[in-house]
Amino acid sequence: MDLSDVLCDKIKAIKTVADSAAKAKRVIAMDGESKGKIVKVAFFDAKPYDRESFDRSNREFGFQIVYFANHLSPQTVSLAKGYDAVCAFVNDTVDSAVIDSLVQNGVRLIAIRAAGYNNVDFKAAFQKIHVVRVPAYSPYSVAEHAVALMLSLNRKIHKAYYRTRDMNFSINGLLGFDMHGKTVGVIGTGQIGKVAIKILSGFGTRILAYDVYPDEKYRSEIGFQYADLNTIYRESDILTLHCPLNKSTYHLIDETSIAGMKDGVMLINTGRGGLIDSKALIHGLKSGKIGAAGLDVYEEESDYFFEDFSSTVMTDDVLARLLSFNNVLVTSHQAFFTKEGLHNIAKTTMNNIKDFFDGNKLENEICYRCSTNACIKKETGKCF
Ligand code: NAD
Repeated sequence: MDLSDVLCDKIKAIKTVADSAAKAKRVIAMDGESKGKIVKVAFFDAKPYDRESFDRSNREFGFQIVYFANHLSPQTVSLAKGYDAVCAFVNDTVDSAVIDSLVQNGVRLIAIRAAGYNNVDFKAAFQKIHVVRVPAYSPYSVAEHAVALMLSLNRKIHKAYYRTRDMNFSINGLLGFDMHGKTVGVIGTGQIGKVAIKILSGFGTRILAYDVYPDEKYRSEIGFQYADLNTIYRESDILTLHCPLNKSTYHLIDETSIAGMKDGVMLINTGRGGLIDSKALIHGLKSGKIGAAGLDVYEEESDYFFEDFSSTVMTDDVLARLLSFNNVLVTSHQAFFTKEGLHNIAKTTMNNIKDFFDGNKLENEICYRCSTNACIKKETGKCF
């Protein structure tokens, strides 16, 4: 038995088979040798709450789901052998090596149970394996979390909580500011950015937004302004990021953009960690240029987020430094984590899988050509 066998045994030991009490068994309707077989789904990076919501939803669908606690990665991809689909999350690796192994192992669908998909190599997947996602499950969950971070940092709730528990009822150092009348910069006015704008409008803030595709209809409905990034950096008291991570947004917030910001600006990131150059953020915090930061995501989060490391030594010096600032609030990618969000993620993911194996149109399929005129999905119902 070599090391890889030992590793594999260990991995298998932590897999759990789904509640097979599903009423109806969902079989593959497409033509081909697997027609009539029950759809088998390998579910990676499974947590107890995922299992609960997917098992509940699966009563309606009847897939055979096997839950693996491991991340999907080149080391664990062999676990997917014999499955029809894999279900992956934000910190799973879906690069070309993993994609090729999935295809070789007979997997035909990658179902991402998230809105963001920066972890998928779409060029490698094109014409080999279909990729579906959950484009919208609850924009409210993420926008509300962004505002929760803003209010907590502004009114120093994270400090007040510890003070009063320690019978320290002093309010020295807890001074906040009225949200009313402040300027909030919103980068990305898609589904989440739009909800954030609506909530923030309720506080009486002035909103400056930027999007590569501005939504003029929504702008005139709500009454905010679009502006270029430099104006937003210069005028915003608070900046909140709601754009996707891609080549054009990688390290959007870096030394140069921070230098153009208002002194003491509050920065909120519930988008993706790679939107911010963490080292530049640390410099900005140390100099006081950045007055506070609320981070639900972090560039190197896949090493830590979603797991309990409370009994180990932190080896990521950048994350350790960020956690040491008393004006930085880090949450572990939990913005999506509401009852409604989880329910909708499970339901849409199951529907995506069902549609694929029933041979239906794939509303939520994505590929690298989707944003170009070369996309054929509108005509054919699939990306290829
Ligand atoms: P969306 O696709 O509805 O909106 C994204 C918007 O960003 C679009 O309007 C798009 O035009 C715009 N955009 C694209 N490139 C841009 C650029 N260079 N500059 C400015 N705007 C740009 O997506 P959404 O549902 O609103 O989600 C936004 C992001 O939030 C996702 O991509 C994901 O990374 C992140 N997210 C995080 C969590 C969490 O739990 N923290 C949960 C869901 C989504």
